[in-house]
Amino acid sequence: SDLENALRASIRTIKDYPKPGILFRDITTLLGEPRAFRRSVDELVHPYSGLRVSKIAGIEARGFILGGAMAHQLSAGFVPIRKKGKLPHHTVRVAYSLEYGVDEMEMHTDAVAEGESVILVDDLIATGGTAEGAVKLLRQMGANIVAACFVIDLPDLGGRKKLEDLGVQVRTLVSYE
Ligand code: IMP
Repeated sequence: SDLENALRASIRTIKDYPKPGILFRDITTLLGEPRAFRRSVDELVHPYSGLRVSKIAGIEARGFILGGAMAHQLSAGFVPIRKKGKLPHHTVRVAYSLEYGVDEMEMHTDAVAEGESVILVDDLIATGGTAEGAVKLLRQMGANIVAACFVIDLPDLGGRKKLEDLGVQVRTLVSYE
């Protein structure tokens, strides 16, 4: 589509970052272009305007940038999901799988209430391990996950499928085979 091509043109690809053999998809260039940033956020929130979405949950760190803008546009609250040890109050914690090994992420226990409608957001979904961890935290607190949104999908890595198998609707704007 036109939109996908426009956004694709604003995303930078870095070879061999953070390790040899990796093609890193960098959205800092998209965020720096006023029109591309606005169009991305508009497109991410489009299906949900008029629905009663209570919170946007953003995954550290690029999910904070997108999620803050989405929350403003939907008049929703914002919930940070962070690497362990960064949040100051009582938290729920979950281990999630990385390419090599595991890490842990946290959310404040009072960040969402039972039955609240939440949209999850991050810049990119690859294997889906990170988003799956966030889904577990949100569901543990009783959130109703309306959708998980990402600017970039790497479909070969199976993340979308993983979330859909958990019953989460997935929305992405640009995909790189
Ligand atoms: P996953 O858990 O395998 O789905 O990896 C997704 C997480 O790793 C997200 O938090 C992304 O921000 C990050 N990530 C993985 N690959 C890339 C990339 O090429 N560009 C930017 N972020 C990436």
